[in-house]
Amino acid sequence: PFDVLVVGGGPAGASAAIYAARKGIRTGIVAERFGGQIMDTVGIENFISMKYTEGPKLAASLEEHVKEYDIDVMNLQRAKRLEKNDLIEIELENGAVLKSKTVILSTGARWRNVGVPGEAEFKNKGVAYCPHCDGPLFAGKHVAVIGGGNSGIEAAIDLAGIVKHVTVLEFMPELKADSVLQERLYSLPNVTVLKNVQTKEITGTDKVNGVTYIDRETGAEQHIELAGVFVQIGLVPNTDWLGETIERTRIGEIVVDNHGATNIPGVFAAGDCTNNPYKQIIISMGSGATASLGAFDYLIRN
Ligand code: FAD
Repeated sequence: PFDVLVVGGGPAGASAAIYAARKGIRTGIVAERFGGQIMDTVGIENFISMKYTEGPKLAASLEEHVKEYDIDVMNLQRAKRLEKNDLIEIELENGAVLKSKTVILSTGARWRNVGVPGEAEFKNKGVAYCPHCDGPLFAGKHVAVIGGGNSGIEAAIDLAGIVKHVTVLEFMPELKADSVLQERLYSLPNVTVLKNVQTKEITGTDKVNGVTYIDRETGAEQHIELAGVFVQIGLVPNTDWLGETIERTRIGEIVVDNHGATNIPGVFAAGDCTNNPYKQIIISMGSGATASLGAFDYLIRN
């Protein structure tokens, strides 16, 4: 059996595996797609100590670093079940069952898409999901935020300090964000809020040049010109496969303590699949290190 089995090969999982292997214990990593979300990212400007890098390049250096160690890498394998007996068992989609004394879950998350024409086409060409990452690319320009929940309104407030103008599009007749956020939003001079509107299309040529929406009350179609669209309608953790075994929040995030431990002894979690509040590469790597040291601590006590 493994001492530490990491499920997920993004920044959190790679970091967890390296920290474990450096303790000289048997370490494995199972990943559906090594690299994780950074494989879909173009420019990265907030991975501290690197002024600029690109997602696939960062993924390649993660892999190279992992390969420096005696880590059993099982790429293109999807975990489908976790069960705790004497050891913790992870069953893969291909039927294999892996056993380990500790497991670190780092299966990440995915942004919920609006699913309108133009969204996929202009991803990284004006369609963005992360204001902390891509906000500064739109300095001095007009952008839209789709989604009037907490993350949408936080994004709009954040962006209003950087860009020229922000238009918020909310499908429902009211914003769902906390009232303190709404008050802050409405106090800003460069924000327009459109409620009860349905985004119909993100338009552009080689990059985004606007958004078309339908006023749900009148049915009228409108087009606004802008340079960027931030989609903020939710981040979905990849944790459905865990079922009821592990404590998760209402939106499915794995609940961890400050050692990365879950409610099941020996099972730890890190990165975007957890209830860590901010979802970023540097934070995922830090929490991967934390979970790994937590697992090592657990091993030497049990
Ligand atoms: P992920 O990167 O999501 O990795 C999850 C891993 O688990 C993958 O290997 C996946 O294949 C695997 N997996 C999932 N389910 C299973 C399963 N059942 N069995 C086995 N393996 C499984 N952050 C920044 O800091 N700066 C940026 O500029 C930036 N830009 C971004 C741009 C885009 C378009 C996106 C989508 C995200 C961006 N982020 C950025 C966020 C950043 O990518 C994430 O915070 C980070 O990748 C999270 O790392 P993670 O390891 O927790 O999860």
